[in-house]
Amino acid sequence: MSEVLVLVDHVDGRLRKVTAELLTIARRLGSPSAVYIGPGVDAVREDLAGHGAEKIYACADPRLQTCLVAAQAELLASLVERIAPVAVLFASGPATKEIAARLAVRTGSGLVTDAVDVAAGTDGIDTTQSVFAGTFIVTSTIEAPTAVVTVKPNSVQIDPVPGQGTVEPVEVQLSEAATAVRITGSQPKATSARPDVTEAEIVVAGGRGTNGDFAAVEALADVLGAAVGASRAAVDAGWYPHSNQIGQTGKTVSPRLYVACGISGAIQHRAGMQTSKTIVAVNTDAEAPIFEYVDLGIVGDLFAVLPPATAAVAKV
Ligand code: FAD
Repeated sequence: MSEVLVLVDHVDGRLRKVTAELLTIARRLGSPSAVYIGPGVDAVREDLAGHGAEKIYACADPRLQTCLVAAQAELLASLVERIAPVAVLFASGPATKEIAARLAVRTGSGLVTDAVDVAAGTDGIDTTQSVFAGTFIVTSTIEAPTAVVTVKPNSVQIDPVPGQGTVEPVEVQLSEAATAVRITGSQPKATSARPDVTEAEIVVAGGRGTNGDFAAVEALADVLGAAVGASRAAVDAGWYPHSNQIGQTGKTVSPRLYVACGISGAIQHRAGMQTSKTIVAVNTDAEAPIFEYVDLGIVGDLFAVLPPATAAVAKV
């Protein structure tokens, strides 16, 4: 069976949930192989195997972490040339989209970004994308021998079928161009105990309607174990960091539940959250556009609606 490469998404060896989602998709297409970049593959081997990785290509070359994305693209290109996988899957993100694009150019592969589903078709790899803020569902077939696809987190239900998890160390020859720029330092973001918006099963988001007071939004998020998102209006006002912005110029999320509080539902906001499985909105204006695409709409003041909802959830 043809291999399917999955670039492992991790932070210092801590696997992000989307890696398990990609391995679930990979099993539908062929034999899942994880590509792990960084030290400490032994610590993640069991987890990757538990989610279906038959093989784990491990590259601990420090240049892959200290150089920009071109180095990772070169590693993957060398694996594609050697293994000829049927597909290479990435979690959608700014860096991975660039790696995927470089890889597709280098290997002459077909590229689709931000897929919400991937399946084996009769003529190649079929992908589904939700575009123009969900106005259209686009289905495409990649007929090139290797499909390169970035997949939005939370697009599929994890369905682990354990694999062998055989580790194969990989060396990489990097071009001069790939190592020309080196990262000399990085400043860690202020960490939060809450999950990342792109990973969370539930996102509670606040907009201009909070008037800068996110306490009620955060309290509901905390009882639900949710991430906190924000509209651009809230971010531009300096009420919440850009890393939490949902929308066209922020992050794209597809949680099980999205609760929009004091957010009007502009098309640019919708672009980042409309693939959420269930959408709930709290807004004082019954005519707000967000009510056109919610599953449950509450016309009311978020400062009156959220505290009793938070208290009720806390009792469960
Ligand atoms: P508003 O549109 O002002 O809505 C606030 C809502 O809160 C209103 O509906 C109001 O009725 C309600 N409200 C007020 N008080 C309360 C209360 N006490 N309780 C409950 N409800 C209340 N926006 C994004 O969000 N993400 C993006 O990534 C993004 N990218 C953009 C890119 C471009 C190129 C452009 C042009 C715009 C972009 N925008 C983006 C901006 C977008 O067009 C909207 O301006 C923005 O989403 C509005 O944010 P908001 O809903 O919080 O504010």
